[in-house]
Amino acid sequence: MPETVFKVIKETWAWIACQNCKGAGVKTSTFRGQKFTNTCSRCGGTRREKKVHRTEVPLVEALKELGTARAYGESD
Ligand SMILES: [Zn+2]
Repeated sequence: MPETVFKVIKETWAWIACQNCKGAGVKTSTFRGQKFTNTCSRCGGTRREKKVHRTEVPLVEALKELGTARAYGESD
């Protein structure tokens, strides 16, 4: 008899400095001796990007964590 486990994906993210422009928001390129500044295509000038971390957790664990989070919110 097969056993069933429900799993959910826990997604945690943090904002880090854009790796493409190194947090500058712009990219500078040189063309025929002239410097051009363009808005970074990766972060769109926001200077940061989302670093997402995904973890697979059992549904029971997720509900437990959500319940805890809600309790904290209510007591706030
Ligand atoms: Zn960027």
